[in-house]
Amino acid sequence: MTFDIVTIFPAMIEHALAQGIIGRAIERGTLDVKVHDLRDFTTDRHRVVDDVPYGGGPGMVLKPDPIFRALDAIAAKRGAPLAVIMTSPQGTRFTQAKAGQLSGLEHVVLLCGRYEGFDERVRERVTEELSIGDYVLTGGELPALVVLDAVARFVPGVVGDEQSVVQDSFSRGLLDHPQYTRPPEIDALRVPDVLMSGNHAEIRRWRKREALSRTLDRRPDLLDAASLDDEEVQMLRQLKGARHERD
Ligand code: SAM
Repeated sequence: MTFDIVTIFPAMIEHALAQGIIGRAIERGTLDVKVHDLRDFTTDRHRVVDDVPYGGGPGMVLKPDPIFRALDAIAAKRGAPLAVIMTSPQGTRFTQAKAGQLSGLEHVVLLCGRYEGFDERVRERVTEELSIGDYVLTGGELPALVVLDAVARFVPGVVGDEQSVVQDSFSRGLLDHPQYTRPPEIDALRVPDVLMSGNHAEIRRWRKREALSRTLDRRPDLLDAASLDDEEVQMLRQLKGARHERD
C-alpha cells in the first residue's frame, strides 16, 4: 500500500516510521511511504507556507497554493490517490472500522495541518477529514501517524500473525481479552490456571467470556453493534444476569 504524507516537519514523521513493525514493512516494500516537505512546494525565497487569516484574529493559516502544488506533484509522480485525507479535529472520528476500510485502498495521501489549520479551500481537494479524538493537537503529524499505523496493520504482510489483527480490540466490536506471559506468578499475582491448563477449548471459552465481560464493564456501548456468535450471546446474558444480581 502506498502512502504520501505532506507536512512541514518531515523528520517528525520519518523518525517514527523507521521503528518497529511499520519500519520493517517499509524496508520490505510491503508499505511504500513517502514524506513530502510542504516547503518544497513554495515558490518564494523564504519558503513560506502560512499567512495571516482574512478578517483578522489570532494565529496563522496554511496557504492553499503549496498544498495544491504538493497534491499535483504527488498525482503526477505517484499516480492519482484514492483518498486525500485532511487531519482535522473537525473531521469524522477515526475508528478501527475506518482503518480497515482505508486499508483496501492502494494509495492514500495524508495532509498534516499546523497553526490554525488549513485555508478552507483545501477542503475542495480532499476526499475526507479525519479526527483522532475530541482534543486539539499542535499539528497533524501525530494524527497522520496514528491513521497510517492503524491502517497499515490491516495490510496483508505488515503484522506477522494476521490472526492478531482479527482478535484485536474493536475488530469484532469487542475489547480484547486479557493477556499474560511468563512468569506464572509475580508478587502473589497469578496467571489464571485455565491459561496454563493446555485445554484449548476451555482457554477459548475463557477468552470469549473475558472479552465480553471487559466490554460490558468498560465499553457497553460497543455491544449493540458487536457481531456475537450463539455462545457469546448466551455468555453475555449470563454476565448481565450476574451483574444484575450483584448490583
Ligand atoms: N483551529 C483548528 C480547529 O479548531 O479546528 C485547530 C488547528 S490545530 C491547532 C492544527 C492542526 O493539527 C490541524 O489542522 C490538524 O491537522 C491537526 N489536529 C489537531 N488536533 C487534531 C485531531 N484531534 N485530529 C486530527 N488532527 C488534528
